[in-house]
Amino acid sequence: MKIYHTSYLEISKSALEHNLQFLKNFIGDDVKISSVVKGNAYGHGLEVFVPLAENCGINHFSVFSADEALRVHNSINENSTVMIMGLINNEKLEWAIENNIEFYVFEPDRLEKALEAAKRIGKIAKIHIEVETGMNRTGFAMDQLPAVFQLLKNNSSHLCFKGLCTHFAGAESIANYYRIKKQQHVFRKVIKKVDAAGLNPEQKHTACSAAALRYPKFQMDLVRLGIIQYGFFPNKEILIEYLTKKKENQNPLQRLISWKSRVMDVKKVKTGEFVGYGTSYLANSDLKIAIIPVGYAHGFNRNLSNQGIVLINGQRVSVVGTVNMNMITVDVSNQVNSVKKGDEVVLIGKQGDLEISVSSFSEFSEQVNYELLTRLPENLPRLVVD
Ligand SMILES: *Cc1c(COP(=O)(O)O)cnc(C)c1O
Repeated sequence: MKIYHTSYLEISKSALEHNLQFLKNFIGDDVKISSVVKGNAYGHGLEVFVPLAENCGINHFSVFSADEALRVHNSINENSTVMIMGLINNEKLEWAIENNIEFYVFEPDRLEKALEAAKRIGKIAKIHIEVETGMNRTGFAMDQLPAVFQLLKNNSSHLCFKGLCTHFAGAESIANYYRIKKQQHVFRKVIKKVDAAGLNPEQKHTACSAAALRYPKFQMDLVRLGIIQYGFFPNKEILIEYLTKKKENQNPLQRLISWKSRVMDVKKVKTGEFVGYGTSYLANSDLKIAIIPVGYAHGFNRNLSNQGIVLINGQRVSVVGTVNMNMITVDVSNQVNSVKKGDEVVLIGKQGDLEISVSSFSEFSEQVNYELLTRLPENLPRLVVD
């Protein structure tokens, strides 16, 4: 296969099928899964990922913003729903309503503007009322809710109360347990108020990946699953908790993503010479190095200078010298099979019996999985593989 790019990502279809089957079994038939595809589908490539998820029966997608919603809208079939959890400018509300795009409403201005837009175009707006339960980010405060409810009741022919929702402030960490429990208590109180107001949102939802696993009662009608569908537990704590509860010892998820490149050149370096820019790596013996056309401009973090590990010929090799904008150099002196131009390089993923996991990669670069994935440049080719 011929590609113009210096590296590429592979996205595994069968791994996604496997993960979604696992999640459906775990969550059950009564709870809807919304596939969270913000951040370019956590780096997997939104346009590549969405149709794959649809093929697995997913028909609800959540994004942060209107630009992402537009991209999902252009990638889905007409039975799928898009939900904006964050920013949509008032000027784009008509567009959203016109195209059946659902959106969060968490402050009075958007609520009023949504109502006006719905009236103007004569189409009902499907809105999710986000409530502040203790994260202190977006969401209506308790004392704002009576007015919100009144407005919804008075305008039910223009505004559809599609969802009632909140977000937990770090459900993946037990250190936040008390805070999350308080949020859950507040959300329960809000539900009572909604009931008392005679309103009936179709979907109550609170749970991200970690909360769906850790607090099953809060799966409610819909879970907003991001990181886990891509084959990653939100953090090690959640993985260990899951395995302990289930008395299992194997990670039930499969990673979708691999990142690959090819050796662009190999050369010898004499004892006492420095490799690359500056003096950060001194050759203590005669070396053979391979040059790989991937650098920080491609998402290979500079913190991996003299630290990163990649796979070539089924063996681990270390990055020597600094990570450049477009290149790294690795020490291949001890390779059994001589490394040559064109050999496959695995930056993330498996080669032979070995694997570079995103988490090991991100530990060195001090990034969490989420950050590393979403920073993979949008212009890297994403190839779907089985
Ligand atoms: C990103 C996000 C999610 C998904 O989080 P994961 O930890 O990736 O499952 C859910 N809800 C909201 C509001 C989000 O912003």
